[in-house]
Amino acid sequence: MIDFNNISQNNWADTRISILGAGKSGIAAGVLGAHVGANIFISESDNSPDIIKNIGDFKHEVGGHSNTVLDADFLVKSPGIPNDIPIIKECENQKIPIVSEIEFASWFTSSPILALTGSNGKTTTVNLLHEMCISDGRTSLLGGNIGMPFSENVLWELTSNITNPIHVLELSSFQLEHINTFSPAIAGILNISADHLDRYADINAYAAEKMKLANQINDSGWLVFNADDPILAESLQNTNRSVVFSLTQNGNCIFKLNATKVYTGETDNPDILFKFEDTKLKGFHNLQNILAAATMAHSFGISREAIQNTIINFTPIPHRLEWVGSIHNVDYFNDSKATNIAAATAAIESFDDNLILILGGQDKGSTDFTQLIPCMENRVHSIIAYGAAGKEIKNQLDESFMVTYCEYFEDAMLTANDNSKPGDTVLLSPACASFDQFSSYEQRGNTFVEIFNKLELGN
Ligand code: ADP
Repeated sequence: MIDFNNISQNNWADTRISILGAGKSGIAAGVLGAHVGANIFISESDNSPDIIKNIGDFKHEVGGHSNTVLDADFLVKSPGIPNDIPIIKECENQKIPIVSEIEFASWFTSSPILALTGSNGKTTTVNLLHEMCISDGRTSLLGGNIGMPFSENVLWELTSNITNPIHVLELSSFQLEHINTFSPAIAGILNISADHLDRYADINAYAAEKMKLANQINDSGWLVFNADDPILAESLQNTNRSVVFSLTQNGNCIFKLNATKVYTGETDNPDILFKFEDTKLKGFHNLQNILAAATMAHSFGISREAIQNTIINFTPIPHRLEWVGSIHNVDYFNDSKATNIAAATAAIESFDDNLILILGGQDKGSTDFTQLIPCMENRVHSIIAYGAAGKEIKNQLDESFMVTYCEYFEDAMLTANDNSKPGDTVLLSPACASFDQFSSYEQRGNTFVEIFNKLELGN
């Protein structure tokens, strides 16, 4: 039986690990496990040729999870796999430990970890933090939910000659399930709002998973959280070794702000970190992301100069309130990554008025789109609702706004273009997942850009 409190003494050659899921993180965990000498078995429900190719020479099964999975000292579960499938229930019955890929990878590194979770803004914030570390002359490895598995970065650390790296991790709530000894030097929590309610019973269950990160910091670590977020403020206000950031100066913030700038020191004699006009990131939500990254970096000891340079030079990441261009004085913004109400709200609030908003795609779980009404009032003049959720969106918002339903995304964009007049902004901030018509939010965002380019050529 493996002793989880004494992992460094474990004899990996005698250890059998079953890995559930042959996606990127499952395969990376397998490669790391094999590197340390463990016996790996990979089990995957999909049996497509691409999956089989990725599994390569590992002992494996595809097309389902048989009881062979149970022939293991513990299980590494990939984040996409739900907890209520029979094989997971059977593992629990048989008391076979289950760990996440993040927990597993953390056993093989003693380098500092800066980990961030939250409902919206994670990718932007970890990229800022990663750039701040690099700008300070450190070796930073960015991984987790962002596409590069933590296991792969840890293996890189073990097999290359890089020294003293920092692991910057973006963590989803799924990746925080089944963590145990994982202990970051800095843990950041950005915000909590309803998301993934197709997987969690309610927002409390989802929030509890995110909040777990707060309890994981190591003895000399710091928890950094958003004091403006009601759920976080209430649950975390008395946490030891915590630092907050806030747009409204709630709590004892390191970085303060007024209407035009972020600064430290005294209000009458400010030491300016940056002026809002100095950053290319648009909207108050991005200011929140900047403050989160700056506070995490500062708490870790990254220099002020590196923090400042990064904020000033940072370019928005594609599909996150990305300005695509302008046709006849109509601006087009691609915010395809806004797949829930809170994200779309943040994007809408970044504009003053004259918005044509494209909403729709695949509903993530009985979404109440009327929650958007307060922020849309006085800003949005018409809505194009498309895709699987389009009719429901039209039903919910028709009374308050001019809503046009289009079955297909391309038609939605053409309609937005037809309805626009100089001075308008066409914003794709769909508040829904993309999977009804696209393989990912990136593909939806790229399609937005392609159609924009065609429209631009035709004008
Ligand atoms: P994540 O990785 O958490 O999905 P991203 O940085 O990719 O976060 O941003 C996703 C979307 O969320 C953006 O398109 C934007 O509309 C919205 N968003 C970004 N930052 C925030 C924030 N701090 N609060 C609310 N919404 C945000």
